[in-house]
Amino acid sequence: MDDSMRIKTPEVDIRGIKIGGQNPIRIQSMTDTDTADAKSTVRQIIELADAGSELVRFTVNTNFAAQKVPEIRKMLDAKGYPHLPLIGDFHFNGHTLLDEFPEMAKTLDKYRINPGNIGRGASHDPNFKKFIQIAIMHDKPLRIGVNWGSLDQDLLTLMMGKNAKKVRPLSDKEVLIEAMVKSALDSAQLAEKLGLPQNKIILSVKMSNVKDVVEAYQKLADHMSGHPFALHLGLTEAGSGISGLISSSAALAVLLNQGIGDTIRISLTPEPKSSRIQEVQACKALLQSLELRHFQPKVTSCPGCGRTDSKFFQKLVAEVNKKLETKLKNWIKKYPKVTELKIAVMGCVVNGPGESKYSDIAISLPGKTEKSIAPVYIRGKFLRSLQGKDITDQFVRIVEDFIAKNYIGNN
Ligand code: SF4
Repeated sequence: MDDSMRIKTPEVDIRGIKIGGQNPIRIQSMTDTDTADAKSTVRQIIELADAGSELVRFTVNTNFAAQKVPEIRKMLDAKGYPHLPLIGDFHFNGHTLLDEFPEMAKTLDKYRINPGNIGRGASHDPNFKKFIQIAIMHDKPLRIGVNWGSLDQDLLTLMMGKNAKKVRPLSDKEVLIEAMVKSALDSAQLAEKLGLPQNKIILSVKMSNVKDVVEAYQKLADHMSGHPFALHLGLTEAGSGISGLISSSAALAVLLNQGIGDTIRISLTPEPKSSRIQEVQACKALLQSLELRHFQPKVTSCPGCGRTDSKFFQKLVAEVNKKLETKLKNWIKKYPKVTELKIAVMGCVVNGPGESKYSDIAISLPGKTEKSIAPVYIRGKFLRSLQGKDITDQFVRIVEDFIAKNYIGNN
């Protein structure tokens, strides 16, 4: 995506991490521990932060959880994470908790509220007002996170009623999407009227269907043109495994490619006993594949087929990836731009030399019927052919040599 296509949103500062404007698309995630269990929560926050989550959210749902927030902050500071922004996720009782636990309100770096979960009828606006007053008092940014599973029912009923009276009524789904957008924008407008500045507000309109969520964010982006807010993107209830990954990536890729979105979360249901960090890894892989951010050198490889020795080919790709992973931390310290390096590992001569033109370093293995040599290319130009049993080591040495010569300092 050309950066000039990105929607110009105000920059929101969250404990020094800036979201919106021309800042990189930020990655965030959420814990699934009981926040009242401070030790487990801190452990998971650190795991997520180490994986690359630049902000971490956790639920603040009870008095016990609220009491533990300052302790969680102190533990993180002591463990070397004083820079990490913490976001409190509030539903139903958030306005009361923030009011009754001012230390918690002061400690958090951002609040997430859901306009559909802050009381219905006459209690909605006073509760919302309380959130805003507390955010202003503590100088905190706020995400107004609309979710279709908990959309403001009063607003939806009103809009459905009005739609039914139209000559050409919209479908229920269309009204639902319009209600999502209206809920976010009306809430943002009210927050500003109450004194919360535009650069303290982030909006989201999450749905669980790819097409719907794309449409909702596109509509939101259209409606807020002229007075934009930073946007948090996410597909809600995306599911787990490959299906969750693909659905989230499909939705977010379309939006990011259209310049919509300033921060992302890929919500995945982890497999039992598996790590929560998969959602952070997915965000990084998505941003890297869209070339919006670079976290590690990119290894392009063909799928392999009957033309090549698949066993050897797969082993070579796996070993190159593994070597890069183990050396990455040190390389980044020495050569920060190494994350932009492009390597191609190809199975045979069919696409090997062609692909090498688009890579910094490429190796093309011999196909089964070809001479047993593996030509290496540097930026499209033939360097030399490798042969023998230690082709992987030879190739990795060429990569290291190339990095040392080409990525000194910031160049
Ligand atoms: S590059 Fe060669 S080995 Fe790889 S998929 Fe294409 S034909 Fe098969």
